Amino acid sequence: MEKAYESFGISRAVYEKGEALLQGLEDIFRSIDRRAEYNQLKVLAAMKKHGVADYHLNSSTGYGHNDGGRDTLEQVYAEVFGAEDALVRPQISCGTNALYLALSANLRPGDELYSPVGRPYDTLEAVIGIRPTVGSLAEQRISYRETDLLTDGSFDYDAIAKAINDKTALVTIQRSRGYSARPSFSPKAMGELIAFIKKIKPDLPVMVDNCYGEFTDYTEPTEHGADLIVGSLIKNPGGGMAASGGYIAGRKDLVERCACRLTAPGLGKDVGASLGLNASLYQGFFLAPGVVAGALKGAVFAAAYYESLGFAVYPGVEDPRNDIIQSVALQTPENLLAFCAGIQQAAPVDSFVKPVPSDMPGYEDPVIMAAGTFIQGSSIELSADGPLRPPYRVYYQGGLSWQHAKIGVLSSVQKLVDEGMTL
Ligand SMILES: *Cc1c(COP(=O)(O)O)cnc(C)c1O
Repeated sequence: MEKAYESFGISRAVYEKGEALLQGLEDIFRSIDRRAEYNQLKVLAAMKKHGVADYHLNSSTGYGHNDGGRDTLEQVYAEVFGAEDALVRPQISCGTNALYLALSANLRPGDELYSPVGRPYDTLEAVIGIRPTVGSLAEQRISYRETDLLTDGSFDYDAIAKAINDKTALVTIQRSRGYSARPSFSPKAMGELIAFIKKIKPDLPVMVDNCYGEFTDYTEPTEHGADLIVGSLIKNPGGGMAASGGYIAGRKDLVERCACRLTAPGLGKDVGASLGLNASLYQGFFLAPGVVAGALKGAVFAAAYYESLGFAVYPGVEDPRNDIIQSVALQTPENLLAFCAGIQQAAPVDSFVKPVPSDMPGYEDPVIMAAGTFIQGSSIELSADGPLRPPYRVYYQGGLSWQHAKIGVLSSVQKLVDEGMTL
């Protein structure tokens, strides 16, 4: 093993320190495996219950009328997520597309969207119109209000009770922390917040941005009162197999509105060809619990390794995890570049590429990104990124297998050692 690592450019010292750290992670890994086993059962049981059959893996073209594979996949998603219905489509391009679809389909001019957990994910600033943007919800006369979390990361219940008003028509809660310095939320914690909101305004629908959260826990937010959950198929639920797509699951009437916005009123879920992607969407969803478990182990390993090197890591090694993201405050731009170079060198695709920081639309500082993925931009695959500003935090996630995630983490450490860091 040591020889194989050495010929890959990873020194014996870097490898052996990793092995020593792994001994302390056995209990955490065991609990991750148990969660994956439970979720694997859940997915398998749903596929059996809905009679997934060989012909469901076939394709449709054109309108996609009578695409039983597509329709059954949507039932499987709904079943696993404890939802009444689901929309699972390759025509939804990404997570932001799915979120915009859910928001725009369920808000009307004069309505107000409300976030009780502070500012949402960067790309939603354009969607909502926090940054003036063509086509934003603000342009459609939909207003927006938010309440920050308390300094300890908990919900500000007093302020939330005051913020909900006659115009409030939809609540949005982000499960993952995204690029902000706040905790991620468990489905159970979100359930308590949702119950509080429903006490104030019982028929107010609550949507959860579930990106990066799927299968990290035993349950999903829809099993704790969320009316809609939304996510990307090139993250957790696609299992690395889905070439494109997004999903929306939850209350039937709200999902129906999304379908009518995606296709057209009167058409709804009946059209939308699967274009040969059905088999990979089924297979990816089937593999997703195991793939997410591998990614979670990689995140825990990264936390343990970088903490041992003296860096501040978030979440901490022992902290509960509600998404697959690990951040490490790397302190210098050189360290951030080295970390990303190490991840890129451990990629199965484009391993020869050197990532460099560049300006990105919507970001204030230059951003560096490392990803050598089979599916473009897929962040359930091994990847890392971060904005070039103090404390030079890297956001690391993914890995289609635990083994690949581990090699990625070791490769990143090796790069820092090559730059002069001592173990
Ligand atoms: C990834 C992500 C999104 C959507 O991003 P896309 O790049 O459009 O898929 C939204 N919210 C969160 C929390 C995310 O992690």
